[in-house]
Amino acid sequence: MGKAKPFIPWIILFALLLGSIPVILSYKGVTVAKTIGVLVVVSIIAALWIWRINTRRKSDRNERVKLTTNDRFWLKDHIPFYNGLSNEDKKIFEDRIGIFLADITITEIGEEVANKSTCLYVACSAVIAYWGLPYWNYGVLREVLVYPSNFDPSNELNKLGIVEGKVHHGGLMNNTMILSLPALEKGFQIDNDKKNVGVHEFAHLLDKSDGSIDGMPPLMGEEDRELWTKLMEKGIKDIKAGDSTIPDYGSTNNAEFFAVVSTYYKECPKLLKVKHRQLYELMERYYNS
Ligand SMILES: [Zn+2]
Repeated sequence: MGKAKPFIPWIILFALLLGSIPVILSYKGVTVAKTIGVLVVVSIIAALWIWRINTRRKSDRNERVKLTTNDRFWLKDHIPFYNGLSNEDKKIFEDRIGIFLADITITEIGEEVANKSTCLYVACSAVIAYWGLPYWNYGVLREVLVYPSNFDPSNELNKLGIVEGKVHHGGLMNNTMILSLPALEKGFQIDNDKKNVGVHEFAHLLDKSDGSIDGMPPLMGEEDRELWTKLMEKGIKDIKAGDSTIPDYGSTNNAEFFAVVSTYYKECPKLLKVKHRQLYELMERYYNS
């Protein structure tokens, strides 16, 4: 569709130039005819060169995946965050899902082709985690591996394993994220426990985009970085003292604190606002400014 369009002006130009040669020759304008001949050759080369650049650019960029009506129903049934959006934001959400699915490979272990619902759960996790930011790109991420169960720290499948998700940093798996499917689904089925492993792992990926997973995400203003450092310290202390509504895992280290609080903010913003006003306000500024 539309492929011939870029050539139309060139074809008209060649036809005009070629057509003018016999006319000029009949007036004995041999030199002018020769010049026009050279111009035809040069413009053919230029046209081919431009065409090559354009096609190369297009093949580098994947076509975004268009969601079907069924996909939209699926989102409505499975993704509480999507349901809470205005109609306008729902369209942006769907658009970003399409971009994610076009750019990132999703491999479901044990399936020849990843199930659509698995792909949508992964893409929704990404879009929710990055929602509200002025830009979204998933940095070095190229592939999300979805395991049929939890796994061990060594990435071995293990139903009793405690690892539900992992963002790699450095090494051979630097471009890969792993998610456990049952944990991923549970994150969306229970929408009031402040937990969602998909959103949690993508929060780590966001944290990673400035080069280190350290609890200090990119694009945070200088003043907020200072405040965030203080709130992190106090927040971790409060969790350890049993005096916090932030899930315990947030006290592991700064990186986990950022991922846990971000997920809490995305899933239960109203509760965070009531229980941890300063953290809520900072999250609001970070994700919505
Ligand atoms: Zn984590």
